[in-house]
Amino acid sequence: MTQQNWPEVYRKLGVKPVINAQSWVTALGGSLMRPEVLRAMDEAATVFVDMKELNRAAGEVVARACGADMGLVTAGCAAAEVLMAAACMTGVDEMKVERLPNTAGLKNEILLFKGQRNRYDGAFEVSGAQIVEYGAVDSARPYHLEGAITDKTCAVAYVIGPFIKPGLGLEKTIEIAHAHGLPVIVDAAAEIPPRSNLSKFISMGVDMVAFSGGKGLGGPQSAGLLAGRRDLMEAAYLNSLNLDSPKAGIGRPMKVSKENLVGMVAALELYMDSDETVIIEGWMSKANYIARKLAGIKGLRVVIEDTPVDRQGPQPVIYFERSWQGPSPSEIRRRLADGDPSIRVGGGGDGPINLVMVNVQDGEEKIIADRLVEALN
Ligand SMILES: *Cc1c(COP(=O)(O)O)cnc(C)c1O
Repeated sequence: MTQQNWPEVYRKLGVKPVINAQSWVTALGGSLMRPEVLRAMDEAATVFVDMKELNRAAGEVVARACGADMGLVTAGCAAAEVLMAAACMTGVDEMKVERLPNTAGLKNEILLFKGQRNRYDGAFEVSGAQIVEYGAVDSARPYHLEGAITDKTCAVAYVIGPFIKPGLGLEKTIEIAHAHGLPVIVDAAAEIPPRSNLSKFISMGVDMVAFSGGKGLGGPQSAGLLAGRRDLMEAAYLNSLNLDSPKAGIGRPMKVSKENLVGMVAALELYMDSDETVIIEGWMSKANYIARKLAGIKGLRVVIEDTPVDRQGPQPVIYFERSWQGPSPSEIRRRLADGDPSIRVGGGGDGPINLVMVNVQDGEEKIIADRLVEALN
């Protein structure tokens, strides 16, 4: 982004825009909201409403999109993790809801496969719950999970994400948890797109699932979706919105504004109506453009990869062969980040560099290609 499209609001603060070839990462602002979403938020800001009523109405849109009994717009996927954990501990018992994060006397252990530990799982524990790991780093057996279940267990958590290991797999995890009467709560923050994932995990039988609103869904960065089984969702509502209670619940620091509620609904509806094929073709054409510009450079192998498990959309991946004589990948990454405009790319250390197209705006692929050619020299 050149000097002339440096929005005044950021210019006043001295904060420069960056080109985001790193995906829907929190560190760069999630995603950009479409004009329809921004207009909806603008409109939402002009009047007062009953927030309980608005939350219920927005929740119905989420429930329909996810094929669940009930839904709720949350302050991001991490906030949804707090609420899932809280719901599994308190149920709809208001005395328990008021007590959190003090869990004395409550079933407060959430089981999580060791290989699915991640930088966000502390959100489950914000509720007062404790994570109990099962299995080895790379794999788990059914007896690991079964053996970890005690009379303190309140839920089995499961995390789905790029580079996150499946452990027992979701199906087996559900089977074992349900055989023991335990709910399965899922963090699927970055699993949209594809759209089919909105309802996939619910239809597989999970009890609650959470998604980020500000990643592939294109909603406000600080919004998310939570959907699931009626009794647990009622419990999540209580932990989030017990507006009539003398004591605010654990979800109070994670409230969602009316503007974000409405923006999230608008983004979700737009997303449900979008043509996924066209969107993916757009990413593919940008990926192809960059790959073509980098073709034939000695010591580089540029491949377009799109394995849904560990990549977000089709993207050029630059592999550095032993014959590569130019600057190291980390030096190249530094040059791109330190230049003007700053370009942020995927990968780390001296591994391959991947260029995620999902947040690359039209025309930026040309800037990225030119700057890469420069940085590679
Ligand atoms: C991004 C992410 C989160 C956090 O989501 P927010 O919507 O930013 O709160 C949690 N878990 C995983 C696996 C994520 O990728």
